[in-house]
Order: sequence, then structure tokens, then C-alpha cells
Amino acid sequence: MKTELFDVLIVGAGPAGSFAAERLATGGLRVALFDGRPEGAPKACGGGVTAKALKAWPHLLNAVGRTVDELEMYSPSGKRLHLKLDEPFAIYSRVAFDSYLRERARESGAEVFFEKMSTGGIKRTNTGWKLRSAGGTDWLGKMLVAADGANSAIAKKLAGPLSASDMEVAFGYRTPLPDRSEAPTVIAFLPGWVGYAWAFPRLDHISFGIATTQEAFDHKALDDLLWQFMIGYYRQREDGHANIWNDLEEEPRARAIQRNLQATAERYAARIPGLADKTWDQRRACGEGWALLGDAAGFADPVTGEGIYYALRSAELFADAFLEGRPEEYEKLWRKDFGGELRRASQMRRRFYGNFWGAPFTERMIEFARGHSGIKKVLGELVAGDQGYVGLKKKLARRALRPI
Ligand SMILES: Cc1cc2nc3c(=O)[nH]c(=O)nc-3n(C[C@H](O)[C@H](O)[C@H](O)COP(=O)(O)OP(=O)(O)OC[C@H]3O[C@@H](n4cnc5c(N)ncnc54)[C@H](O)[C@@H]3O)c2cc1C
Repeated sequence: MKTELFDVLIVGAGPAGSFAAERLATGGLRVALFDGRPEGAPKACGGGVTAKALKAWPHLLNAVGRTVDELEMYSPSGKRLHLKLDEPFAIYSRVAFDSYLRERARESGAEVFFEKMSTGGIKRTNTGWKLRSAGGTDWLGKMLVAADGANSAIAKKLAGPLSASDMEVAFGYRTPLPDRSEAPTVIAFLPGWVGYAWAFPRLDHISFGIATTQEAFDHKALDDLLWQFMIGYYRQREDGHANIWNDLEEEPRARAIQRNLQATAERYAARIPGLADKTWDQRRACGEGWALLGDAAGFADPVTGEGIYYALRSAELFADAFLEGRPEEYEKLWRKDFGGELRRASQMRRRFYGNFWGAPFTERMIEFARGHSGIKKVLGELVAGDQGYVGLKKKLARRALRPI
């Protein structure tokens, strides 16, 4: 039996795990990074990375993807808002993005193992942890880091389970790019549901999807809605059809588009953490000899489902605390850095998708932004990740009072 000794054992080579591995290995530590995903299999994700993240880590732009500086937004009733973004965001295929970050970790000296770890194979020892693969190899390490995503079995064991109210669900389809026209990037707030639909064109396909809360999830109804959205999107490209929510009823053209898409669309679905307000106080992201990063820790925006920025930032905060010899500081650091913001988002979620002056807030927000450049600007900043939820109401009110 082979045994290897490391300073840090990281399970999960998504953005969080790879980013932490790179930083820790650059700091001179011996790092083992494990991932069980089959080669080339993508993580279910829209792959949108905000301008805030691109500014914090400009090297992310070296990963193969595309940058987006225009966005079409739709209100639940289908009103359109065209946003020219002052600061572009990027859309990546997750295979490309994850491979890029994992290779950087490897080049920095982290050792990468294609191994799926089961919690049964993870044991505490007198000096740290022992991880055993199904093939009988042992890895010993002082610190165990769980970066194994939203369904993290390690996080469940170390920090306790999450409930349905702490989870969001996202699902969608990858479809071909339209034949002859540009493919715009679209976000459309759902009519009658919490959440939104997206169309994120990538270099060789479009990622369509819907994100909503696990509690609100009704598979059949939301799948029908996503098909309406996808057909509306392709029809707009074909013949300028106005409605993004294209009703399928007895429409030969809509049916034909649906048949074509059904022949090629690849479906995907996954959970995203969206912690409830009270959970933020109760749940810890580190303890004696262990830490949780990214989705495994619950770090995603409960309003939008955006998690890549928080995966990277939590990895950075943890790695720096560990390198300074104070890993327990990580808890304080993430709470101070983005914990308040995410908690505020949990409190906002109901209101954001609730009613405001007799209509959905999202309807009003798009309506107001169409008529007021100040509000449109705040919306652009929200998309860029530069405008948080803390202070959002105040800023909207201030901008609304300014002349157009
Ligand atoms: C449909 C969908 C769309 C999304 N769109 C966006 C978006 O546009 N922008 C955005 O910012 N966020 C988006 N998110 C959220 C985003 O995907 C996550 O927040 C982000 O991937 C978290 O990164 P992570 O490294 O923490 O976890 P992950 O990316 O989930 O990586 C975890 C890794 O751990 C590995 N792993 C799991 N279990 C084991 C095990 N037992 N042994 C070994 N390896 C293991 C997995 O193979 C995986 O590679 C979306 C999520 C979904 C589901």
C-alpha cells in the first residue's frame, strides 16, 4: 500500500478547489487536489463570470471564453431592456474554465489526482487526516478542504446538512448557435415564478437555463416555460417575433423550432446553494483541521445563483489565512468580506421576486430602467457585480430622484 504525505488535502477541483490549490502551492506547501469528474464532462453551469471577478483576477480572461458587453433583459410580462454594460462580463464553457484553473494549480506545484473520494474513505488521525482511494492508496494531510460542490458529502459530515429552503435548483439545455444571426445574451425574469431564465451564448453553443428555489421547483411547468423561452429566442433571430415567451399553442413555426431543438439539445440540471437568512448565523465554514470552500460552504448568491466569484474569493481568503498560520481566521474573514452581502441577498430574495406597487418588483425594475437612465445604470452595476444588495434600495431611490 502506497502512502503520501501532504500539508493540505483538497477534495474537488472546481474553481474553489483549484484556486486554493494554486495559491497554497505557490506559497510553498505540498498540496493534493482530488477530483472524480470524468475527463471532459462539464459541471452544469451558465458559466457567467462577473466584471467584479474579472477585475479581481484579470488572468481569468486567459481562459477560453467570450466577453459580453451587451445584455438583453426581459420583465416577466416580456418588456425588453437593452443594457450596454460599462464593464463586460465573461461566459465560459465550464470544461474550459475548470481545466484552465486546474492546470494553473498543477503548474504551481499542486499534485492533481483523478479520484472520487467517498466520506467512508476519509478518516481523522492524530496528526490530521487520511484519505483512502477505492484502489487502496492513502494520502495523509494536516488539513482537509472540502471544495466538492453543492452536494458536498464532506460538508454534510463536518458542518451538518442543509434543508430544502437552503437550496436552489437550476436546469437547462445546451443548444446549437442560431444559423445566420447574432446570438444575444439574455436574462428574463420568470412570469409567475421565483427566478429567471438565461440564454448565454458560448463559442460553439448556447447555454439556456432556469434558476429557481428548490421549494418553488415544479419540473413540468418550469420545463414548459424554458421551452417557450428557447423557442421565443430562436424565433426572434429568425423573423423578429416580438414575444420572448413564445406560446406553443397551435403554432407551426414554433413547433418546428421545438422539434429541431429537441433533436440536438443536451439537458443538464444541478443544485446551487441559496442559504436562508437564519442559516448564515448557524453554519460554519471551518473548524479544527478542516475548511469548506465555494458551493460546499453554501457560498452562492441566493437571488441570482451566482457562485463562481464566491468560490474563488473563499479559496483566496482561506489560502491566505492558512499560509499565515491562522486557518481559523477564515471564518471571520469570509463573514466580513462577503458574508454580509450574501446574507442581505437571502433577506432580499422574497422581495426581489415579490410584488412592488401592484406588480412583480422585477417588472417594475425593468419598466423604471427603460424610462430612467440612472436606474438603468444601477441595474448595469448590479449585473457587473459592482453593486451589492447592501445599499441597493438607497441607491435606486437616490438615482430615481435625479433628473433623467
Ligand atoms: C445550472 C447552473 C448554472 C449556474 N450558472 C452560474 C453562472 O452563470 N455564474 C456563476 O457565477 N455561477 C453559476 N452557477 C453556480 C456555480 O456553478 C457554482 O457556484 C460554482 O461552480 C461553485 O464552484 P465550486 O468550486 O465550489 O464547486 P464545483 O464547481 O461544483 O466543483 C466541485 C468539484 O468537486 C468535484 N467533486 C465532487 N464530489 C467529489 C468527490 N467525492 N471526490 C472528488 N471530487 C469531487 C466535482 O467533480 C467538481 O469538479 C450555476 C450553477 C448551476 C447548477
